Amino acid sequence: QEVPTTGRGKRRLGVMGGTFDPIHHGHLVAASEVAALFHLDEVVFVPTGQPWQKGHKAVSPAEDRYLMTVIATASNPQFSVSRIDIDRGGPTYTIDTLRDLRALNTDSDLFFITGADALSQILTWRDAEELFSLAHFIGVTRPGHDLTDDGLPKGGVSLVEVPALAISSTDCRARVAQGDPVWYLVPDGVVRYIDKRQLYRG
Ligand code: ATP
Ligand code: MG
Repeated sequence: QEVPTTGRGKRRLGVMGGTFDPIHHGHLVAASEVAALFHLDEVVFVPTGQPWQKGHKAVSPAEDRYLMTVIATASNPQFSVSRIDIDRGGPTYTIDTLRDLRALNTDSDLFFITGADALSQILTWRDAEELFSLAHFIGVTRPGHDLTDDGLPKGGVSLVEVPALAISSTDCRARVAQGDPVWYLVPDGVVRYIDKRQLYRG
C-alpha cells in the first residue's frame, strides 16, 4: 500500500462520514484498518444531519445517531465524534463537512474514508471537483460492491482492502424490526441503546 505523504509536521486526520443509523462493526473496522495503513493520528466520525440521499426515508433523530456513534467509539483513544454536520442543520453535503473540518484543523491533512458504494457515487456529490482539493479520499472494499476509482482524479483516491464485513445499517434496522438479534453486528453498548430507546421497532 502506497501511503500518500503529508506536509512536514502535519497531523493526519481521518474523516468517516455516515448516517450511522446505527453505527456497526463494518464502519469501525474500516476506520481502524485505514488508520493503521495510513498512519492516521485520529479518525473523526461525523454523523450526518438530514441526509439528502435518504430524503424520503425516515432517519432516526440526529441525537440518537450521535450518541450511538459516541458509545461505539468511546473506548478507542484514536477515535472521536464531531457534531458539525448535525449542528449545521439542513441536509449534509460532504463539501461542507470538509470545508468546516479544514477550517477547524489547520494543522492537519484530511483523509476522507468511504465505502465502495459511496465512492462510486462521489461524482454526483455537490462540488465534486473541489472535494479532492480538501482531502485525500480512501475507498475501502465493501461486500457486494465493486471498488473502483474510474472517473475519479488520478492521485486523489487510494483504494484499500479491509476485512470483509457484510453488515449494513439497513440490515441491522430490519433485523431489529423483525425481532432478530444484532449482537456482534454492532457494539454491545449500541445493542443496549437501541433497546433502551426502542429504535427501529417500526
Ligand atoms: P445504510 O444501509 O443505512 O445506507 P450503511 O451500512 O451503508 O447504512 P452508512 O452510514 O450509509 O452505513 O455508511 C457510512 C460509510 O461507511 C459509507 O462510506 C459506507 O460505504 C461505509 N460502510 C458502511 N458499511 C460498510 C461495510 N460493511 N464495509 C465497508 N464500508 C462500509
Ligand atoms: Mg449507506
